[in-house]
Amino acid sequence: MDKILKLIDKIKDFKDGEKLVDAKLIKVSSIKTAFWVRFKCRLCVNYNTNLNCPPYSPSPDEMNELLKCYQDAILIICQIQTKKDLDLVNPSKIAVNLEKIAINMGFYKAIGFGAGSCKHCEICNLKSCINRDIARPSMESTGIDVTKTAKNNGYEMLEYNEDGEKILYFFSLILLK
Ligand code: SF4
Repeated sequence: MDKILKLIDKIKDFKDGEKLVDAKLIKVSSIKTAFWVRFKCRLCVNYNTNLNCPPYSPSPDEMNELLKCYQDAILIICQIQTKKDLDLVNPSKIAVNLEKIAINMGFYKAIGFGAGSCKHCEICNLKSCINRDIARPSMESTGIDVTKTAKNNGYEMLEYNEDGEKILYFFSLILLK
């Protein structure tokens, strides 16, 4: 457990400014997939544009099989207000970096999932990923119901501050052990 706490503490290294960036140890049983999530991807402008989005990303059936291999995961939470925030604290980049740290700490099964579509190449070759070390599918592209999963762990994707302004939260994930 000490090792997991040390790993979670590493999230502080990715913080930039006052916006919330957090990581929480969660049970894999709290991660929910749903048929509608992946179906909705078909309506997205990024559908079929890169190898980390549907129809190329792992199917919900594959994801459910993968989830069976794990008990513990780390949910990464980033408060994103503007596009600039996304450059400063990108949940997908954090997941990839934390995945590498986790593997170096002995969590050899660790694997990260990001948020949103892959933006590493201007145009994806749609044949074979040229950035396998840094590119990961998003949670939602595999059929994970991110809203439900966040709620199951005490988080909302959208809140309003005292002035009625929207506060958005983006999530990424590491399947740990
Ligand atoms: S990193 Fe490049 S090649 Fe790989 S999935 Fe993303 S856009 Fe495609």
